[in-house]
Order: sequence, then C-alpha cells, then structure tokens
Amino acid sequence: MTSEELYARACKKIPGGVNSPVRAWRAVGGAPRFVERGAGSRIYDVDGNGYVDFVNSWGALILGHAQRDVVAAVQAAAARGTTYGAPTEGEVQLAELVCQCYPAVKKIRLVSSGTEATMSALRLARAYTGRDKIVKFDGCYHGHSDGLLVKAGSGVATLALPESAGVPRAVAGETLIAEFNQSDTLQTLFHRYPREIAAVIIEPVCGNMGVIPPQEGFLQRVRELTREAGAVLIFDEVITGFRVSFAGAQGCYGVAPDLTCLGKVLGGGLPLAAFGGDKAIMDLLAPEGPVYQAGTLSGNPLAVAAGLATLKILAQDSVYAELEHRAQLLEDGLSEVLRRHRVKAIINRVGSMLTLFFGVTRVSSATDARTCSRELFARFFQGMLQRGIYFPPSPLEAAFVSLAHTTGDIEDTVRACDDWAARAPVI
Ligand code: PMP
Repeated sequence: MTSEELYARACKKIPGGVNSPVRAWRAVGGAPRFVERGAGSRIYDVDGNGYVDFVNSWGALILGHAQRDVVAAVQAAAARGTTYGAPTEGEVQLAELVCQCYPAVKKIRLVSSGTEATMSALRLARAYTGRDKIVKFDGCYHGHSDGLLVKAGSGVATLALPESAGVPRAVAGETLIAEFNQSDTLQTLFHRYPREIAAVIIEPVCGNMGVIPPQEGFLQRVRELTREAGAVLIFDEVITGFRVSFAGAQGCYGVAPDLTCLGKVLGGGLPLAAFGGDKAIMDLLAPEGPVYQAGTLSGNPLAVAAGLATLKILAQDSVYAELEHRAQLLEDGLSEVLRRHRVKAIINRVGSMLTLFFGVTRVSSATDARTCSRELFARFFQGMLQRGIYFPPSPLEAAFVSLAHTTGDIEDTVRACDDWAARAPVI
C-alpha cells in the first residue's frame, strides 16, 4: 500500500489519520509519508523513497535510527521481560546518572511522556507553595495537560489554535502568560499577583515556536524573579536535556532551576521522561509525601535500557563538539545558499537544534515567529522532500541533527536547498 492509500485508510479510523497532530502535514499539504523503517540518518517510506531525516522523532533520536547499541540493549531487556510493575536496577542507575549530570536534580522520578513530567512537576510546585497560579511563556509547549494548553507552541501553534477546546475556564484561568526574552512581562505578573504564583515553567531554549535562544541574561533574570517571589522555577528540558549539552540548557547557561523535566533523548527513542529537582520538593511525592503521581509503565525496563545505552554513548568526550560541528556546517551551508538566491530567511540554532524562518530577519519571541511565511516554508518543505530531505512538516518546529548525520548528508542537504532555491520562484 502507498502512503496515500494508508492515509485514506487511517483517516477513517483515526482522527486526522494520525496519533499526534503535526504528523498530518496540515501546515505543508499533501498526505504524510508512512514510514517503513529507519537506519542511521535516514528513514524509508512505504513508497520506496529514502530521506535524510532531520525530524529524528522530534528530537528523541540523537544517535539516529536503529543505533546498534540501543537496539541490542532493548532486545536484551525484552528477552528478560517487557514490564514488571516492580522496581529494577536500571531505574536506579538511570536516576543516579541524571542526578550526576544535573547538579540541580537531587531526586528524580521516571514517567512515560513529557506531558506527564510537566503535569506532575506543576502539581508538586502547587503543593510545595500552597498557591494555584502558574506562568508559562507564549509559544512554549509543555505537553497537553489542561493548564498548559494556553498560548502553546508546537501543534497548537501549527494549527493556529489560540488554545484547546475542552479545557475548563477555571483551569485555563490559573495560567498566566509572559513573553519569552522579555523578563519585564514576568515581573509585571509577580506584581499583579503577589504570593499567588506557584511556578514558572519555561523551555530554557524555546524549541516549539521553532528554535528561539534565550537572550543574554534572560534566564538569570527569570531565576532571580522566581526566587524573590517564592515561586518554583521549572525548566522544561524535554527537548534540550542531553541535547544542547550533556547537562542540558541549565549546564550551558549556568542557571539552576528548582525542578527539571526531561524526555526525548533520555529514553533513547522509547517512551520515557522524568521530572526531578530539589529534595524538599521531590519528597512531597507519594509514597513519601501527599502528592499523588503514579504510572503502570513508569520506568519501563525497555525504555530504561534504551536510555542508558544512549547516555553511555553521549557521555563520551567529543560527542557534543561533533554535533555542534555538523550542525554548524548545516547552518552555514543553508545560510549561504539562501543568501545567494536572495531568499529572505534566517536560521536560529542552538547546538544541534535549528529552525529556518522564512520572510523574516529576526525571531526572538513567539510574536516574531508567528510573522514568518508559512507559505514559503511549505514550498521549502515540499522542495526538500522531493530531493530526499525530510524536514519537520511545520514552520514552527525545530529540526534536529543527530550523530548519524555524516558530512555527506549535510552536503546533500545544502545541495538540495541550493537546487530548490535556484528553481523556486521566491521572494
Ligand atoms: N515539553 C516539551 C518542551 C516538548 O517539546 C514536548 C513534546 N514535544 C513535551 C513537553 C511533551 O512531551 P510528550 O510529547 O512526550 O508528552
């Protein structure tokens, strides 16, 4: 069956034909390609095409597809049993490893998705402070729990929804919105709601309105303001954890949050995420304390094995320098080509995560990101796809470079972009 046939079949039984909205390609048009398999830097669709993949399961696959050690670890774990609902040694090893890499994380709990991690971190923050309100930043995405679907990035922004239907007004009303890279907007909220704000949650490098780096001093100021106000600072490092450095964005920018959420890379491509941080806050969790949180498959042995195998490779010396080098090559190559063909676009990049914003000259906030040309991005996406390069199917998402991308892959990508830009009737 072709992708188009499978998509038509899927649409009859699965809303929108997909199990997560951005996969439906609504922002770029056409039927999504159904993937048959992945290997290294590439994915192969059921129609017989191969693509250099810069989605990498939305950042989870920092080693690329079907990496040998990860596959072997998962196979070995599966042969011992796929789940027990009882503790295992791997969970302790993973908890110790994360605490070692993230000094702000003194205790940690494993869950199965980033959504669970952020939702549970907020519950903890509310219990710890005895307050109800939370602050998030316009354009940041923290999963799909009720209170976090206000001014959210990722699929919510891709589909241009102001927020999700079905969220009770009372819940959404407890979520306040500040502007990324504008700490005065956070300060204003603290003045307006003194001693009411339990937590401030932020992607320290925004990845869900495309990549938006924090400006110099911004995260430090957010840290100061939250400390002064007695609010819990939550870094959602579901994308950036083990991605922008082994110690995440908090390691790069030298800012220690109270709670940290991890996911994606942590699970090596299997369903695994975590939240952790300050001991006094974490010890409020049941069975130690009164905050309930649980999961049948939490700390699943297959996911833990994949995570441990991935982190073992990432702990090697030159890994992040190598990722930086390859991502820099990609950025430089694409920038040069777009400039040469007079395509109005900029590239925002932090380490191995990057976004091409078309039709704009600067993006430092969600407001800027929303002004980028969706139409030109869609043409770029389709042009690259025809040339065997698979970018995220939305203008407001990050592309990810993995250790499996060779310099040859990067050169092919730049050449494809050159060819597209030379032929595309662009502004
Ligand atoms: N936080 C961030 C920063 C994310 O990017 C995502 C997902 N892309 C989530 C949370 C939610 O994670 P999940 O999709 O695993 O629920």
